[in-house]
Amino acid sequence: MLAGARSFARHVVLAVPVLLYAGIPFAVAVAEAAAADGEASITPSEALSRLKSGNDRFSHDAVLGQAVDSARRAVLAQGQSPFAMVLSCADSRVPPEVVFNVGLGDLFVVRAAGEVTDRSILASLEYGAEHLHTPLLVVLGHESCGAVKAASEAAGAGKHVASHGPNLDYLLHAIEPAVARAAKTPEEARLAAAIKANVDLVIDDMLRSSAALRTLVHDHKLQMVGAYYELASGKVLFSDTPHEVTDAQLKRARIKLAARTASASKH
Ligand SMILES: [Zn+2]
Repeated sequence: MLAGARSFARHVVLAVPVLLYAGIPFAVAVAEAAAADGEASITPSEALSRLKSGNDRFSHDAVLGQAVDSARRAVLAQGQSPFAMVLSCADSRVPPEVVFNVGLGDLFVVRAAGEVTDRSILASLEYGAEHLHTPLLVVLGHESCGAVKAASEAAGAGKHVASHGPNLDYLLHAIEPAVARAAKTPEEARLAAAIKANVDLVIDDMLRSSAALRTLVHDHKLQMVGAYYELASGKVLFSDTPHEVTDAQLKRARIKLAARTASASKH
């Protein structure tokens, strides 16, 4: 199956999505710019609209100033209530607060090269979803991602690839399945396809590895959405359909998880 420039290929068990990426209609939503109290109670789709509006402003050079002054800091000193979580690459060109034109306290952000997750990243996102009640998690890949590029080059070298050391090897190994999924895409579109496939697989992996996130998604308290950032245009292309978890899939996942836990406790 080919992962085209504007779609993510899908294969997995827990998520049932059709991920078509589309441009965002231009609409400046001035009212959404100011943060308000109680935002954690907004719906996932309202949170997504707010991100889309912010990115629209950013990509059209129409950013609004965000509250970062002492008054805002005094409010935030009492507690945080971010309206969305973003897991993005560590790349300096993709700072979520900037590309979504939001302010202090608006986003709960976790960053790692290639959006590769580990247990500490999952624990951070579980905290944001469970304890801060953040209703939306965007996994944000980006054009020309160096981590995915490096994983592609390592895969191309096959068994002859030299070790990059245990840490970078771990990172590149985690991205390998996305590179494999995009392998049959025409060369000029292959890297973008691998980057999108990686976003997709990161979401699948989170749903598999985190019972907390899986349950929240199943109960419609959390929406997980893939996205792809274009470096020059500044546009974020979102997946049209969020990842979902059906009852049957949730049940199967719980059985697998219980079996794995039982097996692990024997060792
Ligand atoms: Zn990157």
